[in-house]
Amino acid sequence: MAVRYLIEDQVCLITLDNPPVNVIGQALRAGLVAALEAAEAAGVQRIILTGAGAAFAAGADAREFDTPPVPPHLPDVLARLERLPAIAAINGTALGGGLEIALACRYRIAAPKALLGLPEVTLGVVPGAGGTQRLPRIIGMAKAADLIAEGRTFLAPEALDLGVIDAIAADPVQAARRLPDAVLACHLAAADRPTPAPEPLTTARARAAKRTAGQVAPQVALDLVEAATLPLPEGLARERAAFLALRDSDQARALRHVFFAERAAMGRKPAAPATEITQAVVVGGGTMGAGIAYALDGIGIAVTLVETGAEAAIRARANLQNLFDEAVRRGKLTPEAATARAAGIAVVTGYDALPPAQIAIEAAFEDMAVKRAIFAALDAALPETTVLATNTSYLDVNRIAEGIRHPDRLLGLHFFSPAHVMKLLEVIRASATSDTTFATALRLAQRLKKLPVEAGVCDGFIGNRILTRYRQTTDILLMDGALPWEVDAALEGFGMAMGPYAVQDLSGLDIAYANRQRKNLKAQPGVRYIPIADRMVEELKRLGRKTGAGWYDHGGASPAPSAEVAALIAESSVAAGIRRRAIPAGEIVERAITAMIAEGFDILEEGIARRPADIDLVLIHGYAFPRWRGGPMHHADTLGLPQLLSRITGYAAQDPLSWRVPPLLSRLVAEGRRLADLNLSERA
Ligand code: NAD
Repeated sequence: MAVRYLIEDQVCLITLDNPPVNVIGQALRAGLVAALEAAEAAGVQRIILTGAGAAFAAGADAREFDTPPVPPHLPDVLARLERLPAIAAINGTALGGGLEIALACRYRIAAPKALLGLPEVTLGVVPGAGGTQRLPRIIGMAKAADLIAEGRTFLAPEALDLGVIDAIAADPVQAARRLPDAVLACHLAAADRPTPAPEPLTTARARAAKRTAGQVAPQVALDLVEAATLPLPEGLARERAAFLALRDSDQARALRHVFFAERAAMGRKPAAPATEITQAVVVGGGTMGAGIAYALDGIGIAVTLVETGAEAAIRARANLQNLFDEAVRRGKLTPEAATARAAGIAVVTGYDALPPAQIAIEAAFEDMAVKRAIFAALDAALPETTVLATNTSYLDVNRIAEGIRHPDRLLGLHFFSPAHVMKLLEVIRASATSDTTFATALRLAQRLKKLPVEAGVCDGFIGNRILTRYRQTTDILLMDGALPWEVDAALEGFGMAMGPYAVQDLSGLDIAYANRQRKNLKAQPGVRYIPIADRMVEELKRLGRKTGAGWYDHGGASPAPSAEVAALIAESSVAAGIRRRAIPAGEIVERAITAMIAEGFDILEEGIARRPADIDLVLIHGYAFPRWRGGPMHHADTLGLPQLLSRITGYAAQDPLSWRVPPLLSRLVAEGRRLADLNLSERA
C-alpha cells in the first residue's frame, strides 16, 4: 500500500508510504486519490499529509518517464488536493513532485533537516505538476525563477526565509494537528492567490544560459515561470505540455541515463566480503598523494604518508597543510580541528616503522622503476594481507607489482585531481586481483563517497586511453588545417567544459609529452605520427600556463591565440606535404567525438570496461564531457549506430592509419542493436 490514511476526529492523516523514499509512482498517485476521496466523503475539517520513514516524497519515479504516462496524473490529483483544507507535514526530503504536493497544500510545516527543491531541470525536464505555477504565486516570480531554473535544493531554514514553507517544527505532524483553525483559514491555496507581480527574469536567463549552456530545460522553466501571470489553468496546461515534450527529448533521456548509471555504480554490490579499513599507508605526498591522504583522514582512517627524504617530507607536509587551510577558508573545518587533523597524519621517510595498515596506496612519480621499487618495499614492510594499490595514470598495473607475495591483493585505484574533491575513481582490476581485494576497494570508495568505475588493465585504462585518442585526433585536425583555438571553440560549443588545448595549457604539456616519449610513438609502425605537440615542448619550450606560454599566450589578462604556435603548425603541415584546408566547427566536433566513441567501442570489445554506461561516467566525471549528452557511448546511440558506422567507414577510407571500424560497432549494427542493450538492466 503506497498511501495509508486514517480519519479520526475530523482529521484525515494521509501518509505517503512507498519505501525507501516515497517516490511518486502510479500506485502512490492512485493511493492518494483514494485517500482524498475518503477525506471528502467523511467531510473532514483538515487533511494532514506526511511521509513514512525519512522522506516526505523524493520526487517522481523516473523509471516511468520512458513509457507513456499512466493515470491518475499528478497534476489532476493535486488540483483535487488544492480544493481541500490540507497541511503538508514535511517530515523529510520533499523534492520535485514531492514539493509540488506540498505546494498544493494550504500550509506547509517542515522538519528542521528537511531537504526541499524542484531539481527537475537536472533531469532535463521541468516541474510537471504545478511547481512552475504555484511556487511563483507563493514566493514571487524572481525567487521562484532562480530556484526552478537552477534546480537547487535547500534546507528547511532557507525554505522558511524564502517563504516556500510557513513554519518549522521538530514534529511537523503534531504541529499540523495543533495549528489553529483560524490560521489555516487565512492561508489561501495557490490557486486562490492573485497572480504574481511580473518581474524581469533577464538575470536568471543570463545565469542559466551560462551555467547550463546548451541545455533546453532551464530556459523552458523560465518561460513557464513567466507564464504564471496567466490564469492558473492556462499556466498549468502549458507546464504539462512542456513537461511531456521535454520528457521525451534527447537531453532528458541522456540525463536520466546518467542518473541511473550513477545510482547503479554507487550501489553495486561486491561479490565478496570487504575488509574494513582503519589504517592506510600512502606513498608520495605530491598533488595526488596529499589529496588522497587528506580524503582518507577525513573519513577517520589513520594515515601514514611515506616520502623519499627530509626535504620531500617537508613539501608533503606543506601540501597537506594547504588542503587543511583551504578547508578552514571554506568554513568546512575550524582552525583547531584542522590543526588536530593535520597532526594526526604521520609523514615518514622510509618503510621501517610502518603500521600494519589494511591498504597502501602508491602515488609517487609516474615511472615504472620507481613504482616497482616502492611495491617491493611495501611487500616487505607490510602484512601479507595488506591491499596494495597504485594510482598510476597509464602504467601496467601488473608489471608494477611483479614478484610481490600474494598478487591477488593488488589493484589500481586511479583517483582524479584534486583527489579529495573529484568523485570519480577508476578501480583497476589486475590479472590476479581477488574479489575480496576488489570488494575492499569498493567499500573504501563508498565510504569516501566516490563514484567507483571498474576498469581493466591497458594503457590509460578507460579515461586516459580515450583522452589520448581524442588528443591524437585533434592534433591531426591541426595538421590538416585547424588551429588550437578553433578546435577548443568547436568542442566547447559541443558542450565540453574546456577544449583540449586549453586543458593541456592548464595541466602542462610536459605530462603528455613524457607519456608519448614512454610509448615512443615516432618509432611505432602503423601510427600516424603528428610532430606538433612534441615540437611545442622540444623546440618552443611552451609548456602551458606555468611557462606563460603553451598553445595560447598567457601573458595578458586572458589566454590569447599565439602567432608562434600558428606558424609552427603551418610549417608542420607543409613539412608533411599537407595542403591545409579550413575545417568547419561541425567537422571538428564530429571527428573528435567520433574518435572518443570509437575508442570506447574497442575498450568494450577488450573487456576493459564492463558496460557502455561506465565509459560515460568516466568521461562525464573525469573529463567534463557534457552530462546532458549522456557521455560518449550514450551519445553514439543518440546519433544512431548505423550512421556512426558509415561515418567511421568513410574516415577509415581516407586515413586508414588513424581509423578502423570497431568490430563491435559492426556487429551491433548487423544485429540491429544499440549500446544501451549492453547496459545491464540496473534500474533498481
Ligand atoms: P607529484 O610529482 O605531484 O608527486 C609525486 C610525489 O611522490 C612527490 O612528492 C615525490 O617526492 C614522491 N615520490 C617520488 N618517488 C618516491 C618514492 N620512491 N617513495 C616515496 N615518494 C616518492 O605527482 P602527482 O601528480 O601527485 O602524481 C602521482 C601519481 O599519480 C603518478 O603516478 C601520476 O601519474 C598519478 N596521477 C596523477 C594525476 C594528476 O592529475 N596529477 C591524476 C591521476 C593520477
